[in-house]
Amino acid sequence: MFTERIVETGKGRLHFRRETLTGLSCRISSERIKRGIDQACSIEYSPEGCPFCGGNLTSDTPVFADGRRILVGESVTFPNLYPFAEWHTVTVISREHTVSTFSMEQVADAFTGQLESLEGHDGYPSINWNFLPSAGASLAHPHLQGLVDSIPSPLAARYLAGSEEYRKEHGRNYWDDLRKTERRAGRVLMDGGILWLANPVPLGEKEIRGILPISRLSQFSPLIKDLVRDLLQIISFYKELGTHAFNLSLFFDKEGCDHGFSAFCSIIARINPNQLSLSDSAFMERLHLEPVILTMPEDLARMYRQWKGTEST
Ligand SMILES: [Zn+2]
Repeated sequence: MFTERIVETGKGRLHFRRETLTGLSCRISSERIKRGIDQACSIEYSPEGCPFCGGNLTSDTPVFADGRRILVGESVTFPNLYPFAEWHTVTVISREHTVSTFSMEQVADAFTGQLESLEGHDGYPSINWNFLPSAGASLAHPHLQGLVDSIPSPLAARYLAGSEEYRKEHGRNYWDDLRKTERRAGRVLMDGGILWLANPVPLGEKEIRGILPISRLSQFSPLIKDLVRDLLQIISFYKELGTHAFNLSLFFDKEGCDHGFSAFCSIIARINPNQLSLSDSAFMERLHLEPVILTMPEDLARMYRQWKGTEST
């Protein structure tokens, strides 16, 4: 499912990997993790002036056309005041401005709010989460963002076109083949309703990808609890590794379409908030469009199994 070229550098090995279906590539340099630029999460975020806190939420955020916001548990969903999609909604997950440990209910309710806000909007939906400002969140207050566009974003488009092409060429579903291959490859973290693996060609540091047994948003509701339970495991695992900030995207096919696609959820680790504004995205990620990864996916899966106590150190 991917090709690899290994180059000896004298100090270690560089792994150049390329995913066959999409042509996406990355380079993995495990030596670079020794630089240790990611430090403990050191910044406190004040709730002062936060539009998602307390009474500000009703005075500072917009409502849907029917004059309401969607309320599920403590989550509140409304249209994005500054949209960058044809349909763009925001779900505030918690009443608290900062949350150290999310509960199942908080995150499941927020995903339910997102689902409700996106259903019925024609196009390619995704549910997304930038957690903490160093991961791109403009507000520290935890929130999800839902997008629907008539044209899929470039990453979704590559997988949708690739899946369709693969089915034409092989007469089989790409994701079924991927599940089979990955179950033998030693990169699986969890294998319940959703198959979670350390993505062999990561889009970002420590990418963990969940392949859902569905393709469209209208099929998502019964899977929310499974997804959130697994997601909270991943967030705890990241914390164990010292990572607090992350990005998450969950992609769906368009209603009424069958590209031979599986909905999938990718999570990548981001640098912790830090006083120096150190960034983990540089010219390789932003201009060459090829991420430099520090953790071998095979090592990440092994670390996960050791953390869970299912593999000895
Ligand atoms: Zn707040």
